[in-house]
Amino acid sequence: HKPLKDKVAIVTGGSSGIGRASAIQLSKMGAKIALVDLKERNARKVKEEIESFGGEAIVTDTDVSDVLRMEESYNQVLKKWGRLDIVFSNAGINGKVEPIEDLSAEDWDQTLTTNLKSTFLSVKLAIPYMKENGGSVIITSSINGTRTFKNFGMSAYSTSKAGQVAFGKMAALELAKYRIRVNIICPGAIETNIGKNTFPDNEELKKIKIPIEYPEGSQPLEHHAGKPEQVADLVYFLASDASSHITGSQIFIDGAESLL
Ligand code: NAD
Repeated sequence: HKPLKDKVAIVTGGSSGIGRASAIQLSKMGAKIALVDLKERNARKVKEEIESFGGEAIVTDTDVSDVLRMEESYNQVLKKWGRLDIVFSNAGINGKVEPIEDLSAEDWDQTLTTNLKSTFLSVKLAIPYMKENGGSVIITSSINGTRTFKNFGMSAYSTSKAGQVAFGKMAALELAKYRIRVNIICPGAIETNIGKNTFPDNEELKKIKIPIEYPEGSQPLEHHAGKPEQVADLVYFLASDASSHITGSQIFIDGAESLL
């Protein structure tokens, strides 16, 4: 028995890391998956992986911060499957890592629109399709900006992640009347590609030493960063009826990293 049989899920950032692992997990539990990502080629690989174990997936090549392309993606999903039950608003970037003094307004906007405006769009566009039958929305925030403030140079990132928590809670409140649940997950360090190429050669930052690498012992539970598959288990739980009374919650998944 597959608990998510006949359900349809949109996964943004589904071609890599946490999104990929979650798309696979939701698919194994029976959901049909729309992989919404900028990196179409990688998304196609995930689609093939899903199909290799008998799952169903489509790819929409989309910038999650672009309202027209997001509308197109949602339309594609509805045209294909006629319903929407789960939205995992997860695509994100670290953005430019710079001290505030040097951070440009354009770089600030880039991070805020990619991480935060995208979440607003992911939720807003789901409402017309979910208001009849309810649904579950999961938003990937972070411990950064919501419980810890240790990543020097990531003011825009931390602000976007804090904004996702506030937005997710407001959405949970507003959408409860439609039985649309909205929960926010806050991972600590997870082994993905997100940190690659984002940390610049900045002397000022080097002096302060951003914790780019997560040293031995940085997560008390396992002494290393978490795995995307561990986050995917939480995403599946929040997507499924096993969490039917949970909404507006912010759940940390960090092996106690943020308590250090
Ligand atoms: P990742 O880089 O492996 O995956 C992110 C995905 O988002 C990529 O497939 C990328 O192509 C996609 N993406 C980026 N910008 C996009 C855009 N404008 N439109 C569409 N797709 C876009 O990284 P990840 O670690 O799996 O990140 C997923 C989420 O987890 C992010 O929101 C991130 O902030 C959050 N997070 C990650 C960690 C960590 O340590 N990895 C910790 C806390 C929170």
